[in-house]
Amino acid sequence: MPTGEPVGKIIVKQGREEAVQRRHPWLFSGSVEGMEGKIQPGDVVDVVSHDGTWLARGFANPQSEVPVRIATWNPDERLDEEWLWCRLQQAWRRRQELSIPDETDAFRLVYAESDFLPGLIADCYADFVVVQLSTPAMERWRETLAAMLTELLNPKGIFERGDMDTRLREKLPPRVGPVRGETPPERLTITENGLRFWVDVWKGHKTGFYLDQRDNRRRAAPYLMGERVLNAFSYTGSFAVYALRAGAKEVINLDTSAEALRLAEENAALNGFEGRVRSLEGNAFQVLRKFRDEGERFDAIVLDPPRFAPTKAVLENALRGYKDINWLAMRLVKQGSYLVTFSCSGMVSPELFQQVLFAAALDAKREVLILERLTQSRDHPILLTFPESEYLKGFLCRVE
Ligand code: SAH
Repeated sequence: MPTGEPVGKIIVKQGREEAVQRRHPWLFSGSVEGMEGKIQPGDVVDVVSHDGTWLARGFANPQSEVPVRIATWNPDERLDEEWLWCRLQQAWRRRQELSIPDETDAFRLVYAESDFLPGLIADCYADFVVVQLSTPAMERWRETLAAMLTELLNPKGIFERGDMDTRLREKLPPRVGPVRGETPPERLTITENGLRFWVDVWKGHKTGFYLDQRDNRRRAAPYLMGERVLNAFSYTGSFAVYALRAGAKEVINLDTSAEALRLAEENAALNGFEGRVRSLEGNAFQVLRKFRDEGERFDAIVLDPPRFAPTKAVLENALRGYKDINWLAMRLVKQGSYLVTFSCSGMVSPELFQQVLFAAALDAKREVLILERLTQSRDHPILLTFPESEYLKGFLCRVE
């Protein structure tokens, strides 16, 4: 159990202090000169410059590419349980002040570095909290965290979705299951902006649902109208349900996952829209081409693909992929209709994504107007000193 007392020091290489001083919360192994003390994964450590000047304090994992997650730049701040409790309360207060829980009982309570709690994600789904612990320090605090979250929110249960690859990179084993209280059912229902959705916290993507798209679903809805809307990369059809409420006659959910499509149909039914969604199981790259060849047209299109660029090495390919689906969508949408298009690759900046859309518009021979720029929901705030916290970007476009 961390007591908050630093057990050792991590010495930063000469000339590499700047990132720490500019409050980037990750100290990479390439910037580490050496270590002092018997440092175990999860220990609290001080970060010092080569001449011994104190720079910051954080949690260590000598086995990681990021040996220190910095949690404070204040030498008087102890990284103990009191600190943890305080930061959890602050995160909860921030969410309450955003009035996210209004008509919505599914939201991100803790977004790691952006809530000054590196290594911790906590998402609320109605009566359950789902946590992801991605550092040994948070792993040690597993039980403590569960007790604190119980005190803070009084949920029915705390559940862990520790099957993400960030855990593997930190040499932590995958783990999925209840931590405290009741075990969540195979599927639970949540309310988002007054709409209901089935969520599978055991096996669903991320912690069960794309909470980061909540604000965008609301903003995009008024544009998703007409006879026929195409929701490509639909997952469990959340955009479709919003479109139907906004007045779309029919929405086609397109996804490679038959299971996601089944849940999408149930989500439509849960809101009284049965019979108004169609499921199309297939690869969007091929299906969009087929639509083009057959002369199909849509009144609005949503494109929300998975992360095409998880690493820099595949960035070029990813950009080709984004361009490909976007130029096809620009061809398929009726003149004067709307395309809502996203990229959740952190490697692709909003500027770069806009350039891709520019190239796509040229190829599609369409004039495209950006009406709104979209980003991740406000319960996934972007920390200015940590650009990596921004990953989702989107454009709401009118295609002429
Ligand atoms: N818009 C959704 C989230 C989409 S996640 C929401 O708000 O809930 C991306 C989805 O794309 C996943 O469901 C995945 O199964 C699907 N997918 C991945 N590759 C695909 C492809 N080539 N064609 C169609 N769907 C694909």
